[in-house]
Amino acid sequence: MTRLLKSYVCGDWYEGTGRRNQLFNPTTEEVIGEATTGGLDYAAALDYARNVGGAALRKMTFAQRGEMLAAMASAIHEHRDELLDLATESCGNTRGDAKFDVDGATGTLAAYAKMAKGLGDAKFLLDGENIRISRSPRYVGRHVMLPRKGVAIHINAFNFPAWGFAEKAAVALLAGMPVITKPATATAVLAERIVEILVNSDVMPAGAFSFVAGSAGDMLDHVTGQDVIAFTGSAATGAIIRGGAAVIKNSVRVNVEADSLNAAVLGPDVKVESPTWDLFMRDVHTDMTQKVGQKCTAIRRVFVPADKIDAVREELSQTLQSTRVGNPAIRLVRVGPLASKAQLDDVQAGIQKLAEVAEIVSGEVGPGELYDLPSGKGYFQQPVLLQANEPEKAGVVHEHEVFGPVATLMPYNGEASEAARLVCLGGGGLVASVYTDNRDFASDCMVEMAPAHGRLTFGSKKVAEHAYGPGMVLPQLVHGGPGRAGAGEELGGIRGMSLYMQRTAIQGDEPMLAKLFEDGTTAG
Ligand code: NAP
Repeated sequence: MTRLLKSYVCGDWYEGTGRRNQLFNPTTEEVIGEATTGGLDYAAALDYARNVGGAALRKMTFAQRGEMLAAMASAIHEHRDELLDLATESCGNTRGDAKFDVDGATGTLAAYAKMAKGLGDAKFLLDGENIRISRSPRYVGRHVMLPRKGVAIHINAFNFPAWGFAEKAAVALLAGMPVITKPATATAVLAERIVEILVNSDVMPAGAFSFVAGSAGDMLDHVTGQDVIAFTGSAATGAIIRGGAAVIKNSVRVNVEADSLNAAVLGPDVKVESPTWDLFMRDVHTDMTQKVGQKCTAIRRVFVPADKIDAVREELSQTLQSTRVGNPAIRLVRVGPLASKAQLDDVQAGIQKLAEVAEIVSGEVGPGELYDLPSGKGYFQQPVLLQANEPEKAGVVHEHEVFGPVATLMPYNGEASEAARLVCLGGGGLVASVYTDNRDFASDCMVEMAPAHGRLTFGSKKVAEHAYGPGMVLPQLVHGGPGRAGAGEELGGIRGMSLYMQRTAIQGDEPMLAKLFEDGTTAG
């Protein structure tokens, strides 16, 4: 019989009732699990987290919360090989893709554990110094940030069941808020196993961590003004969540990480086969193929000076065509299947949509030749490169995110202002990357592009050997972006905790405030 995934709520495992969703191995299309949250009492689950978990976390110092994060990271790391295999089976990840997700989770937890050490035995944050607010020097004000007394509800997308949980949970737990995490149902097998490892390792106080395996049901009908919802997924679901009656009535804080048409710009100064050129080519190829392009930060639009577009197309097409697609369990394979049949259908429909305004210049709709997969099964799509010679008229390329191994090449006139104008047609993005060794070009790009993005990355010859591609989200830097990208902000080191804390202005006499602030510390 197929295994039914369990939720972990009110300090216990819960088996849902009623209609079940089937979960598939995306390589073989075999059913590997089922999920349902039918009958789950969400009101009780949220209350338990708030009352039991929240109270326990708020008593802990930052250093103790950090030790908990470090222990979580170790527990996951101890099961690394098993989790990598499970990521291949349940998400279709190649070994490299699986490491990106699983090691990304451990790395983020460990990074926040390290930051916690720096905050020591404090339990909350002080924001700035005392401010004299009257004629008397003794009457002062200062801002404090205390953990909110609700629960942090984390709703994640299907593409990162491990990292997606960890990048949100690390920050909320360090801030002192209990977490209830809900992965996307399609890839919840890996998330459930991670939660099982964490629960068995007994490193979190009761109620600090809960897990939902399946639909969110009526969970969001029970939110209060002290809760926080952090959502990653499509803009459409983000809008539904933001518009929920209880969310609106109780002014619940909502952070949304949504779609993004991330752009890469090649500077006019970059010569073919120079280190900066090679970095650019490597980043575009990585983003098109890593996780089969199922990264919210992946490059979707590539802007190249018109006189270099032929050279870029030829080199990129050649690399894409020699990239192996097939059985993700085989080390030589770089591109595995998409995560689900629904994703495959979406991606293929998306390519057709882009093809109405752009020409397919490499690849085609369909799996292509698959390596080590005689069965002909699985949710495979080979990488596809398109070219739109008139970016201005290619509206859909700037508006429709195809969440797969797909990117569109477009020419521009070599001026930073023009590149930025075209990039900004994306309506707000998570990240954009600029490849140049010309600092004036870079500076113009920053001024014009930064307001429309959460992160900008500059690739140049000085860092060609060391640069992380734009697709990699780092715990120290903010993740999120304005407009289409959801207007959210996560991570960014200590500053990420502000999502889970309430900033309050405190006024009073100076000695009184000194006593009140004994358990606080200034960040950084
Ligand atoms: P999705 O369909 O919007 O689902 C995202 C999550 O929301 C899933 O856990 C889903 O649960 C849940 N959900 C769906 N309807 C809900 C509702 N009415 N109330 C509460 N929760 C609900 O998105 P997806 O297909 O998983 O993810 C793909 C999208 O995510 C892409 O567009 C991508 O750009 C975006 N994404 C963004 C980022 C980022 O950081 N900005 C990262 C990754 C992905 P079920 O699975 O149970 O339906």
